Amino acid sequence: MIDKKAEEKHFNNKSTVYGPVKSWRFGLSLGIDPIFTLSTCSFNCFYCQLGQIQDITDQVKEYIPTDTVINDFKDSLKNNPQIDVITFSGSGEPTLAQNIDLMIQGIKELAPKIEQYILTNATELYRPEVRQRLLGLDKIIVKIDAATEETFQKINRPAKGVTLARVREGILELKKDYHGKIEVQSMFTPLNLSEVEQYAELIKEISPEVVQLNTPKRPYPSQWHRENRGNHLKVFDYKTTDLKTLSEDQATELETFLKKTTSLKILSIYR
Ligand code: SF4
Repeated sequence: MIDKKAEEKHFNNKSTVYGPVKSWRFGLSLGIDPIFTLSTCSFNCFYCQLGQIQDITDQVKEYIPTDTVINDFKDSLKNNPQIDVITFSGSGEPTLAQNIDLMIQGIKELAPKIEQYILTNATELYRPEVRQRLLGLDKIIVKIDAATEETFQKINRPAKGVTLARVREGILELKKDYHGKIEVQSMFTPLNLSEVEQYAELIKEISPEVVQLNTPKRPYPSQWHRENRGNHLKVFDYKTTDLKTLSEDQATELETFLKKTTSLKILSIYR
C-alpha cells in the first residue's frame, strides 16, 4: 500500500489524461490512462518505463470510472487544442480496463476528428469481448518482444498463465474482426537478437502495416511515479538502471535482415 503522504508527494498528478507526449512517429499525443491508481499490467517487462509493476495481473475490470476519464479529457483538450492523436496507454495494460470502449466512444464524441490509438501487449486479445471493445480505434499497436516462450518469459515476465501462444492467437483473431490499422512494436536487446529468424516468421504471419523496432534507451526506474507515463523530462530522486541496448550497427543489421526476409515496412528507432 502507498501511504497517503507519499502519495501526495509523488502522485500529485491527479489526471487520467497526460501529455502531450512527443512521439517521433505520431506527433503530439494526449495519453489516456484507463488504469491510473497503481501500475497494473499482465506483463512486468524488464525494461518497463514504469519500473517494477505493482499489480501483475490479467484481471479485466473497471479500474477508473469512465466519467473521470471523459472529464479529464475535456479539461486537457481545452489546454491542448493542437494535438495530433490520442493514445491509450498509461499506468499499465489499457485493455485490462473493462470500460475502455465507453472511453473510446466518449472521446470520439468530444473530438471526432482526432484519431485514437492504443499501445497494448496483446495478452487479452484472445478474449472476444476485449477485441470487440477496441473496434472503434483507428490504430492498434501490439507489442511483440519475443519469438519463443522461453524468451517471452524472460523479457515480458508475464502474469501466471499468460503465454506467447495466447498473444499470437489473440492478434490473429483481431485481424479477422478489426478493420483499422495494426502495427507491431518490438523492444530489442542482446537477449532476443538470437532468435530473429523465428521473429521474422512471427511478424510475417501477423503481417502488420508497420513494424517498429525499439531498444531500451530509457533507464529502468527503481520506483513508480505517475509522471513516468509521459515524456520522462523530469528527474526524480530515485535510482535508475541503464539497460543493454542494441548498437546502431546491430539495429541496422536487424532492420536490413527483416526488410529482406519479410517485405514488411520496418522502422527503426535509430533512423
Ligand atoms: S507491457 Fe508495457 S506497461 Fe506492461 S510491463 Fe511491459 S512495458 Fe510496462
